[in-house]
Amino acid sequence: MYSFKNISSLQADLKNGSITCTQVVNELFEQIEKSKNLNAYIEVFTESAKQQALAIDAKIKSGTHGKLAGVVIALKDNIAYKGHKVSASSKILENFTSLYNATVVERLLAEDAILIGRTNCDEFAMGSSNENSAFGKVLNPVNTNTVPGGSSGGSAAVMAANLCHVALGSDTGGSIRQPASFCGVVGVKPTYGRVSRWGLLAYASSFDQIGPLTKTVEDAALVMEVIAGNDENDSTSSSKEVSKYTTQLNDSIKGTKVAYLKDCMESSGLNPEVKTRMEETIEKLKGEGVTVEGVDFPYLDYLVPAYYVLTTAEASSNLSRYDGVHYGYRSPNATDLESTYKKSRAEGFGKEVKRRIMLGTFVLSAGYYDAYYSKAQKVRRLLRDKTLEILSKYDFILTPSTPSVAFEFGKNSKDPIQMYLEDIFTVQANLVGVPAISVPVGVNSANMPIGAQLMAKPFEEGKMLAISKVIEGFNK
Ligand code: GLN
Repeated sequence: MYSFKNISSLQADLKNGSITCTQVVNELFEQIEKSKNLNAYIEVFTESAKQQALAIDAKIKSGTHGKLAGVVIALKDNIAYKGHKVSASSKILENFTSLYNATVVERLLAEDAILIGRTNCDEFAMGSSNENSAFGKVLNPVNTNTVPGGSSGGSAAVMAANLCHVALGSDTGGSIRQPASFCGVVGVKPTYGRVSRWGLLAYASSFDQIGPLTKTVEDAALVMEVIAGNDENDSTSSSKEVSKYTTQLNDSIKGTKVAYLKDCMESSGLNPEVKTRMEETIEKLKGEGVTVEGVDFPYLDYLVPAYYVLTTAEASSNLSRYDGVHYGYRSPNATDLESTYKKSRAEGFGKEVKRRIMLGTFVLSAGYYDAYYSKAQKVRRLLRDKTLEILSKYDFILTPSTPSVAFEFGKNSKDPIQMYLEDIFTVQANLVGVPAISVPVGVNSANMPIGAQLMAKPFEEGKMLAISKVIEGFNK
């Protein structure tokens, strides 16, 4: 069984002929079969992945291969891959087949990646535990009694269980970083607009970004280099040139300045073992010549409410397209147009999605628009100004990725507010639009992974990855 360490050593092994893509893919199929209990893949693209492996083996032999040759990648089940099903883990899109490729998929294929399957997630990416999927929960491979996090729980689980080399996720409020943290892998949420959203099933369009979950920071840098960049199909994608992240990785971090949020570190909800790992990380960074200082950010209480008002508003609008007429599921019990809408939506959407559509419709309704939606927009602006103010004095903001480690199934499912508070540290980056990463910083006394989060100035993914590589090294 080939043991994957990182992309560069995989590619060295493929080039020197000690392994072939076909062998790697076949071994992964076997492993996936053995790990079915995790429920991490909704579908394995057996045929297309085998064909890609054969074709890329030939390209490697002839030396005409791309940057990601032989890298086996899993897609979250909300990213379109032409001719393959995509469902956002919702019954409403069960059996829907993509008519075109997401831009990220085009870019991965152009660099000879192998796409192995689609991963389970919370329905329409709404959730923090992967308990909201219409296809059942995903188990955390590190401890199967605990959640893998959400909503990209399947993508984090397939990484932790070695069932692919890289996984893509989407992050609207933490859905890449929180599962990465819970499963002990690296997860990157790019700057808003850095990666095209074309072909991503929308949840909250002014927050959503696609990003990679990887074993190492270096792998994340390489994948980011491939997927980032302007796209004429997404007018919110930036035309700013993409930096050479893999080269920037080697830049010295000496003299850089990190702010940690005192309000996060002193928050009563922060698990003491998570706090200890963060304090150790701060000390080690200082040892690398980095200035680390605590700053005030007395707005933590506003993050989650602003996030949930705005994202549910956007979701209620985005999800109105699933009406039983245009896409996916149509209720067999409908008798006329109105009952087609009502019954298809009532039967097709799960509980959490319905809750959010109703909340979003409420905050946008004529009588409440100003009190909720407009107010939350103003709060978003304030949070952006305050965050960028810190980032004008410091290069990075450091927080824990999550208040605690992966929790047990059912722990937060009775109380949505409790579940929403899981996102307290991650939603800031999406509200503000800055890039963020979760890097593993060790485990707690029960061996559960802990992640540190770094946020950086817009489009400074390169610098963020460089310091993350140093932090990753602290535990090796
Ligand atoms: N847990 C958050 C939510 O439920 C974040 C989801 C996400 O980033 N897609 O909305």
